[in-house]
Amino acid sequence: MRFNKVLEKIKTYEAGKPIELVVREFGIKPEDVVKLASNENPIGTSSAVKEAIIANADKAHLYPDDSMFELKAALSEKFGVGDENIIIGAGSDQVLEFISRALLNEHESVLMSGVTFAMYEIYARQMGAKIYKTASYEHKYDEFMEAYRMYLPRIVYLCTPNNPTGDATSKEEVLRIIEAVDPLQTLVVVDGAYMEYAAAKDPRYKITPKDLLGYPHVIYLGTFSKAYGLGGMRVGYGIAQSTVIRELYKMRPPFNISTLSLAAAIAACGDDAFVEDSIRLHQQEIKRYEAFAKEKGIAYIDSYTNFITYLFDEGMDSTRIADALLKRGVIIRDLASYGMNAIRITVGTPKQNDTFFKVFNEVTV
Ligand code: PMP
Repeated sequence: MRFNKVLEKIKTYEAGKPIELVVREFGIKPEDVVKLASNENPIGTSSAVKEAIIANADKAHLYPDDSMFELKAALSEKFGVGDENIIIGAGSDQVLEFISRALLNEHESVLMSGVTFAMYEIYARQMGAKIYKTASYEHKYDEFMEAYRMYLPRIVYLCTPNNPTGDATSKEEVLRIIEAVDPLQTLVVVDGAYMEYAAAKDPRYKITPKDLLGYPHVIYLGTFSKAYGLGGMRVGYGIAQSTVIRELYKMRPPFNISTLSLAAAIAACGDDAFVEDSIRLHQQEIKRYEAFAKEKGIAYIDSYTNFITYLFDEGMDSTRIADALLKRGVIIRDLASYGMNAIRITVGTPKQNDTFFKVFNEVTV
């Protein structure tokens, strides 16, 4: 079978390993597996969300409300934007896919930071577009603008806070880049998947969809998968001027969000206390990861997200360490495939983190 030539250059996205795999391969009991690999919310899902899912179970035979009226109303209220400014995807991943399909082809290019969310590149390659990356993983104005002027990309991705590194770009710097690009040539995607954590850490890094709505060439992406604890329900959103949203809608398959996912996201929108609790626990626990790294002489990136990235020197090999942790039931993310001798650890519950520190000590003696 001959497949599209563009597929030759695509490396399949490797998701964080599931608990089931560790149970199967290493014979570890599911309750003993600690999964700190996919930046999920370690405290789970709020009880309001669980109740909403159960209450909607008897609607499973009906297609969902394709207008997503209620979820859009909840998001409109939350962010102070109109419902014509919102598109909802099966995860913000699906909105990224709509953007790519709406703007790219083999004559176009995209620009992103040197190490960032892998799906930007995968979706762009699917469209045959060229990929340009800056030298640094941080979003530096000078590096972005130099590359921008050279390649005039169709899309600029600003991932803040950035995954898998955890650093963030200030609102001031993001606006500087947005204002320097040509609004007729380029869409700037501000991916705020971890924004709740950055906003709580330092207000200079807080960017809201409304901050960007005045720009015709910008879309803000958010997700319910992280701070809201809905990774398994797959709901994300894009917020932009209606001229952008209207075009993206042409890419959307019908009923792309399930009834139960819509109900879960609507309930999550009304449960700010859960998000606040999640962030409070996170802020307490991430300090332990910083202290642990300092104690062991390991460098780390100051994190604005729900994970932390440890940077190893030559004496430590990220792949070897990730494999050794995995065999003992601790799943984290090896960043070797991003060209970094580093691991990314989702900050877990106090108990999960205790296990991480203990097992990390065992495998690195
Ligand atoms: N953007 C970034 C930066 C991410 O890290 C992720 C999830 N790993 C996504 C987007 C997609 O999230 P979701 O599809 O779960 O909304």
